[in-house]
Amino acid sequence: MPSTHPIVPPVDGQVSPRYAGLTTFARLPRIEDVDRHDIAVVGVPFDSGVTFRPGARFGPGGIREASRLLRPYNPALDVAPFADVQVVDAGDINCNPFDITTALAEIEAGVAALASGKRPVMLLGGDHTIALASLRALHKEHGPLALVHFDAHLDTWGPYFNTPITHGTPFRAAIEEGLLLKEHSAHVGIRGSLYSPDDLTDDAELGFTIVHAREFHTTPFVDIIERISARVGDAPLYISIDIDVLDPAHAPGTGTPEAGGLTSRELLELLRGLKDKNLVGADVVEVAPAYDHASITAVAASHCAYDLISIMSTRVS
Ligand code: MN
Ligand code: MN
Repeated sequence: MPSTHPIVPPVDGQVSPRYAGLTTFARLPRIEDVDRHDIAVVGVPFDSGVTFRPGARFGPGGIREASRLLRPYNPALDVAPFADVQVVDAGDINCNPFDITTALAEIEAGVAALASGKRPVMLLGGDHTIALASLRALHKEHGPLALVHFDAHLDTWGPYFNTPITHGTPFRAAIEEGLLLKEHSAHVGIRGSLYSPDDLTDDAELGFTIVHAREFHTTPFVDIIERISARVGDAPLYISIDIDVLDPAHAPGTGTPEAGGLTSRELLELLRGLKDKNLVGADVVEVAPAYDHASITAVAASHCAYDLISIMSTRVS
């Protein structure tokens, strides 16, 4: 229940130009600058779980910089997400760059503190390993969660170089730990080469359903949205967006790009199709600014986060 304290909005772009001043997500107040929050945006600058190109540790900074252009009203959802609830930028979670287990514990604690009282949290990654820590924290708050996972990759692989937890494994671990409602969970945008057909059968045995990227050619878009929405049902929902779900034309700045992906327009409309769900947490991960061009990837990621926060704000207010 929001308190009666006045809402501190983002810096007014009519007073201070949007390219000026210190960088927070969408120019929101820092968590230190307000006495409470309803929704927190938090950076997780961790990329020690990557298996190919590194650099997502710089994702939070890149997404924040690209988010300066975001304005207060979201016409696609008819929501002013920062007007009626207190949204804050909680800075970055300090996490160990050399030890994945330690880092996951630090990230889990950081997310848990922001989410206490069932407050939604929006994570800016970071590589996809961080989703496991986020799910662990939110499971303690909400119980098992539905997951809609946008990605080129399944991320239910097994150990890599004898390391059980990497950015290719978070959702296998999440299922094995009982964090997810598997009958309410789905991967969306899957494509690209695999190690073998077993990757798909192993994933199916874990309980996921898949909307393959190729299906966007053959299935009406509204039917895909309906299929995902029906899968989620009324369960508390976590949305995890690996920005490589987008085609490299729409997201070149990422670590494991795969041809044949979604457009940013398609991804945003898929998110908006979930606007009536009980969205309790979300992440946007795998943005690696060093491979980005003209902030293409960071702009897409910042707009995804904005729409997710917009959906969260309608539940809180
Ligand atoms: Mn991926
Ligand atoms: Mn991923």
